[in-house]
Amino acid sequence: MPSLFSGSAFYDLYQPSQCPKRVWMLANQPDLAADDSAFRDLLFRRGRELELRHLAELEAELGPAARPVYPMGYFAAGHRETLSAVGNNAPVIYQAVLLDDTNRFLAIPDFLVLNPATGRYVIRDVKLAVNLDDHPEIRLQLGLYQAVMEAVLRYSPEVEVVTGDGAVTPFAPAGREELLAAVNRFNELRTAAESPYEPVGWSKCNPCVFRASCWDPAVAQRDVATVPHVDQGLCRKLRDLGICEFGQLHEFNEDDLAGLSRPWGRKQQRVGPVRAGKIKRQVDVLVTGNVMVESRPALPPGCAPGTRPVVIFDIENDVFDPELGVKVYLWGCLLAPPDGPPKPHLVVAGPGAEGDRQGWFDFLDLAERLFSEYADLPLIHYSAHEKTWVKNYVERYGDPRGVADRVQKNLWDMYACIQNSLFIPAPSYGLKSVESLVGFKRSQEEFGGLWSIITYDRYLNAAAESDAQAILDEILTYNTEDLLASLVVYEWLEAFCR
Ligand code: SF4
Repeated sequence: MPSLFSGSAFYDLYQPSQCPKRVWMLANQPDLAADDSAFRDLLFRRGRELELRHLAELEAELGPAARPVYPMGYFAAGHRETLSAVGNNAPVIYQAVLLDDTNRFLAIPDFLVLNPATGRYVIRDVKLAVNLDDHPEIRLQLGLYQAVMEAVLRYSPEVEVVTGDGAVTPFAPAGREELLAAVNRFNELRTAAESPYEPVGWSKCNPCVFRASCWDPAVAQRDVATVPHVDQGLCRKLRDLGICEFGQLHEFNEDDLAGLSRPWGRKQQRVGPVRAGKIKRQVDVLVTGNVMVESRPALPPGCAPGTRPVVIFDIENDVFDPELGVKVYLWGCLLAPPDGPPKPHLVVAGPGAEGDRQGWFDFLDLAERLFSEYADLPLIHYSAHEKTWVKNYVERYGDPRGVADRVQKNLWDMYACIQNSLFIPAPSYGLKSVESLVGFKRSQEEFGGLWSIITYDRYLNAAAESDAQAILDEILTYNTEDLLASLVVYEWLEAFCR
């Protein structure tokens, strides 16, 4: 019997980033994958928590759910149990098991909920994600569930998703044609004799288990894909032209580069003179190792080099919170005063939704104190993340004293400033890359956004208070070093304004 295809397979293609090569690697070189069991375990537990909470709500409303019982892996037995529950018009079936007529496709939706008005079941699946538009794998997985259900029950069920914030939303999954194309592509990728060519990318490869096998060698080989401003379509085009190393791109004529057409979505698009100029200057700095000033950096309004006080602002998010969807669990500020050393002020949110609310208002209290002591000082952050989440928290809990409004007016994005004014000899303009360029050294060997989410999860689940405190100290050290790194980068940036 051919192996069963279940919708969860699509996650390999799209998570944590879209990459066909990962499908091939997982099927053919799984031993090269880094150990991500802690992260998988976190996702499983959080998803389970959300699922059980919804099960309790459904059972309170509709009575006990039917649960197919079958020996592990014997899906045909689970399928028979599910059909029996369907035949009995069970109001809710938890973890139904469905196999299509060909026995090739397996669907295990979290819930089938009977609609008494139509006498038909609705697929209801629980996801930690909040914004479903960003998740093609969910569209495909639920499209597969719908197609299998249709094959078994002879009608096409409606589909709903319970999102990470607990909302129940009607959902339009992938249609049959799109689904079959995706399944065929997936199978072709898995069984291909060789790994497909796939350009590396900083944000694409950074969270991937194969980073050490793809990104690190690409940097060592000076692959064109590691050049900022060179998009993935252009990498493919350059490769077709035999240009794989950025030294070759250095020799390439800028006008010819501007005239190249490369894949852009479903179309072809010329690189154009603006991007070509940026790429050439970027390659120049990578080859020479020197920073190039495109335009004098514009510091925060009212700030000249050396103006103090300033505040460095950095938050840590838990993007898999089973109650809120996304939770800011740490609001970090580093005050660089006119005199004396910089001083961190870190606000940690407590557990659950109540702790989330308390974290937000503690942060506003802190911001109010800083404004009352230093008037309108800038809050310097790195990337649009902080701006987005201050805005989201105003929507979530409000801003009764107008402090968040003042915070928003004083936010200043250093990442945008660096990107718009400098070319730097690094494969990314992200903080970790720029801080290492300017020589900042961290005390922790392991760090990063994913690490901090896993560590925060360890903190929440620590067995003893002393363990929790030790883990919290690790998180605080990480955030403080993010803040200090940002301050060092800011001082470095100021030097280009002198
Ligand atoms: S490291 Fe990058 S190129 Fe390699 S499999 Fe992962 S996402 Fe794809």
